[in-house]
Amino acid sequence: MPRKTIRFMDLRIQDPRARKRLLEAVSRVFRHGVFLLGPEVAELEKRVAARCGRKFAVGVSSGTDALLFTLKTFGVGPGDEVIIPALSWIATANAVAMAGARPVFADIGDDLNISPSSAERLITPRTKVLMPVHYTGKICAMEDLSRIARARGLALIEDASQAFGARRGGRPAGSFGDAACFSLNPMKVFAACGEAGIVLTDRADIAERLGVLRYNGMVNRETCLEPSLNGRLDTLQAALLLARLGDVDAIIAKRRKIAAWYDERLKGKVGTPRQSSKEQDCYYTYTIRTPERDRLKAFLEARGVEARVRDPYLMPEQPAYRRGAKGEFPNAKRLAGRLLCLPAHEKLSRSDVSRVCGLIDRFFEGAD
Ligand SMILES: *Cc1c(COP(=O)(O)O)cnc(C)c1O
Repeated sequence: MPRKTIRFMDLRIQDPRARKRLLEAVSRVFRHGVFLLGPEVAELEKRVAARCGRKFAVGVSSGTDALLFTLKTFGVGPGDEVIIPALSWIATANAVAMAGARPVFADIGDDLNISPSSAERLITPRTKVLMPVHYTGKICAMEDLSRIARARGLALIEDASQAFGARRGGRPAGSFGDAACFSLNPMKVFAACGEAGIVLTDRADIAERLGVLRYNGMVNRETCLEPSLNGRLDTLQAALLLARLGDVDAIIAKRRKIAAWYDERLKGKVGTPRQSSKEQDCYYTYTIRTPERDRLKAFLEARGVEARVRDPYLMPEQPAYRRGAKGEFPNAKRLAGRLLCLPAHEKLSRSDVSRVCGLIDRFFEGAD
């Protein structure tokens, strides 16, 4: 009898209480009928800003839009360079390119996050923004990056899409940069039931301009200040997010527990994520490294365990960017072929994790 598949991700909402709460939230929106920028959007903005210790939050239609609009509010455009890590979801580079600027790809460290020294070496007179990504749900070395940004007069924008709820030195993701962008899409740790994103900042001028950019550059119903797109956050998604906000800490606690179970069983067999005492990762993914990556993935999948290569290509090696990609990223190149994400979502049980680890043991014992 084949055993049940251990899914990499399980986005179904099957718990009756959770489902009821979400349906009630939808129902309230149906009753008031303000589907665009309704009261739930403002309420979510207020709650997320407070949670991350920020003055302002602006809800937008996706994480990609969050990045694009934010880059534009900092005046990024043609002729400018934005330094980003070589390893991320492609939206990070696309937002820079769609703003009309050039992405410059920095190397990553062993934490899989942008290397501050590599980023610093790539600064030119054209560099306008440093945009680190908290990859896998681990916050970057923000002390070093802030120091570099300040010294060189650059804006610092966090792509915190994978790190909602993560902390570093007690401070939450989204509280470090001049602005911080989150994707709240269904795969993220704090997730809508469709596309959604949010931007945080302490600067009133930035928040105000984001409000204009997310709605066709309109300041009111009459006046368009600058060309833009329509990228508002849906009231329905905001309502669903509000209904889920209270669960985020429990979700992260469970993911951290799963990570600890994996750490304990896998140490010495594969490279496991490292976490210093000042870091509290949210484990958007639990990413291991091994030179046997492709064989291990096939072995697991043949036995009912879904494992994923999250970003199989570095961004500068994508067809869209590889011609003349600017940057330096030897460590990223070395690591890219070794990374594998194991199932680590909060619905897994200890015995699920145990089964995955048992299979990894068998793989390294040479079982076939
Ligand atoms: C998910 C993600 C995005 C894009 O978010 P969308 O909401 O899917 O547009 C951007 N950057 C990173 C690092 C992400 O993981």
